[in-house]
Amino acid sequence: MKHIFGPVNSRRLGLSLGIDLLPPKICNFNCIYCEIGPTTEFTCDRKEYVPTREIIAEIDRFLADPEALRRLDVCTITASGEPTLHTGIGAIIRHLKDRTTKPVAVLTNGSLFHDPTVRRDLLAADIVIPSLDAALEASYRKINRPANCAPLALVIEGLIRFRKEFAGQYWLEILLAKGINDRPEDLTALRETVARIQPTKVQLNTVARPPLESFALPLSQPELTAAASHFTVPVEILVDFTTREREKFQPADASAILAMLRRRPCTAADVAEALNLETAPATAALEQLVTHGQLIKTVHHHKEYYQPKKA
Ligand code: SF4
Repeated sequence: MKHIFGPVNSRRLGLSLGIDLLPPKICNFNCIYCEIGPTTEFTCDRKEYVPTREIIAEIDRFLADPEALRRLDVCTITASGEPTLHTGIGAIIRHLKDRTTKPVAVLTNGSLFHDPTVRRDLLAADIVIPSLDAALEASYRKINRPANCAPLALVIEGLIRFRKEFAGQYWLEILLAKGINDRPEDLTALRETVARIQPTKVQLNTVARPPLESFALPLSQPELTAAASHFTVPVEILVDFTTREREKFQPADASAILAMLRRRPCTAADVAEALNLETAPATAALEQLVTHGQLIKTVHHHKEYYQPKKA
């Protein structure tokens, strides 16, 4: 399937069916920490980039298996880019709500919430997770490198408006990169802006996987903990979660591994976590794919990452 992936074990959402609305990489940002690669279509135009009926047909094929559906915790709308640029997002959310009782989550950069059509499209979701990495214009431009259509004041206004209209869970993700958007004045501005947005909670993150730019550096755990203390709403630091019982490796999982790595480079532990596998067989499967020339290994911050070998 081209547009759906998983189910994968998501740190924050549980066992999640991913629905990817865009091919890489259509976005109105070009974040320095992006795991997907450089933005190839840098645009603010909302369009039906992929036929909505094609995505819905794939969803229906997955939902036809009652056992697969039963195991799911959530359906997550995402994209290899910014999913709210796809004009079919509202129809896809509503279709999922009609066809399943599972909650629907949306991962978005939140920059188009000033558009009433986008806000209306997202109202049927259960969990909306937008980003806001900076509340000072200069830091916002440094970390997110947005298109001109997304000035920071408009982005913040959209995030506040949506909070007033949306009754579901509203989790605001903030990713901090060392020396870019973590200075005291950045944290003060973020605290004040988050207090205006009033999300259900803040999810604090830092650079983890190989970023687009080598100067996108992570904060340490103590630095993240110190940053968390600035906020007046509940804050969750996104950390590894390893509590689920692992399943034995199945040979068929090689295709799931390749599908996952096509979206972003991962460590063996990431793959084990996402696919609910033991680490040792996940590593063995990855090494086998390296030997067969399907994957390459790179080292970033002392960790080994696997990614598909480019054709
Ligand atoms: S908004 Fe997301 S997809 Fe777009 S550049 Fe930033 S991290 Fe990458």
